Amino acid sequence: MSSSLPKVAVHKFSSCDGCQLALLNLGETLLQLSQMVEFTHFAEAGPVNPDAPVDIAFVEGSVSTPEDKERIKRVRGNSRILVTIGACATAGGVQALRNFVDSKQWVGAIYAKPEYVRLLDHSTPIAEHVKVDLELWGCPVNARQVTGALRALLFGVRPVEENDKVCLECKRRQTVCVMVAKGLPCMGPVTRTGCGALCPSFGRDCYACYGPAENPNTDALRRRFVGLGLEPQQAAQRFRFINGAAPAFRDAGSAKAETENG
Ligand code: SF4
Ligand code: SF4
Repeated sequence: MSSSLPKVAVHKFSSCDGCQLALLNLGETLLQLSQMVEFTHFAEAGPVNPDAPVDIAFVEGSVSTPEDKERIKRVRGNSRILVTIGACATAGGVQALRNFVDSKQWVGAIYAKPEYVRLLDHSTPIAEHVKVDLELWGCPVNARQVTGALRALLFGVRPVEENDKVCLECKRRQTVCVMVAKGLPCMGPVTRTGCGALCPSFGRDCYACYGPAENPNTDALRRRFVGLGLEPQQAAQRFRFINGAAPAFRDAGSAKAETENG
């Protein structure tokens, strides 16, 4: 039976389901949220009604197949507010590595029956296909981001976007810099915060799972990596990973950058 609560859907596109799992891992908080909203479609949690009109739609995954391309238009048409969650939905995800190569050749080399694989040549973020009202970055997104955004939207307030760089979070937490102290090729100077500088707090270099921060100086960082001893190809490949197809990282991770000595 339909309630008077705001209606929320969680849709999956091409993805590993990790962001939906991050929502399921909310545990008790998810139960509290279910008192505040009605989840009309959230297949991983139970309800299935993909074509119901909703107030807020969370979309996980990239547009990677012809079917995705059609379906995202229906989702947009049925949603008052559309929020993309995670690296796949916001930047194309790790599956966008195929954007740098001839994907047909890859499919032919990997699958025994490539004729059964229906893929678009590129994996692209949701915003390349329909209007997106809010993007939550991360691989996967974390519970604090999603619940914070949902609460703000329910109160009719625009959620605060986190554009700071991971380095600032290290400073706030007094985490010793792994690039300075250990010479690790940390992506923190160009990566958006949201994770609480998780990797540096464990003595590891950031690999940019939260995507590009505001105004990232990718060229300077790539040159710094070469200065730390990485080959130009290795330095470029630091940018070509989970968020490698994000425009701010694309040039720094390109084949051309692989040949530049800094
Ligand atoms: S550890 Fe990485 S993210 Fe932290 S301050 Fe150093 S370069 Fe920045
Ligand atoms: S430090 Fe970097 S790689 Fe680690 S969780 Fe944060 S954004 Fe992701």
